[in-house]
Amino acid sequence: MDHKKRILLKLTGEAFVNPATGKLAPETIIAVINQIQLLSHSHQFGLVVGGGNFFRGHKEGRMLGMTPSSGHQVGILATMLNGIILKDLLEQHEISTTIFCALECPAAGKPISQQGITAAVKKGDTIVFTGGTGNPFFTTDTNAVLRGLQMEATEIWKGTKVDGVYDKDPMLHTDARRYDQLTYLEAINKKLGIMDPPALALAQQFDQHVRVFNLFEPQAMLKAAQDDTFGTCITN
Ligand code: UDP
Repeated sequence: MDHKKRILLKLTGEAFVNPATGKLAPETIIAVINQIQLLSHSHQFGLVVGGGNFFRGHKEGRMLGMTPSSGHQVGILATMLNGIILKDLLEQHEISTTIFCALECPAAGKPISQQGITAAVKKGDTIVFTGGTGNPFFTTDTNAVLRGLQMEATEIWKGTKVDGVYDKDPMLHTDARRYDQLTYLEAINKKLGIMDPPALALAQQFDQHVRVFNLFEPQAMLKAAQDDTFGTCITN
């Protein structure tokens, strides 16, 4: 394996949507792809895709009166839709990509295995992880930490709509304070809601560093690559 930094970028389903119109739009994803190309000499990326632009088990599933596990199944399928979109756009930009799917679905991606992940890392591919963990009652945040550990990522980058982690919602409170750094324990105990508790617990247990920053800011990934203090770092 070469000496590139390995990053697991968690891409929320919101990245597939124009924030102003709420409709599917490629701009943010294309900006991510351009930055992956610009960083390709120094960084290799694994991308975990969410599905929240289409369906979240605990939200839309509940609204429809579905049983929780079936609602989550639909959410898992939503991540697969985004995965296929992402792989197609990456390949149109001539980025060699391997896509894995945690559910058996050859049309959506290769079946996930540690051997497969290691081979894709060695090949130098950009890796798309879709289908979540394959299990209901999880979120793609937990999947991001899991796949980050599997590809031995230096850091998880969680792209959000705000420039880091705040003590309260900065959209609602003008006196909200941004953390430069935070421990997993503080994030869990203060219920800051930046990642779900299972994701934070897994990252804490295996000391997987997480960085939270605004993915919608121009050149955010380039800034994160150049500046270790960009965004909020969550560590032990
Ligand atoms: N999901 C699941 N298991 C997983 C990952 C995802 O059941 O391992 C379901 C869950 O219902 C979740 C939905 O898929 O709400 C979409 O994922 P997520 O909410 O993480 O998407 P994002 O908010 O990142 O767009």
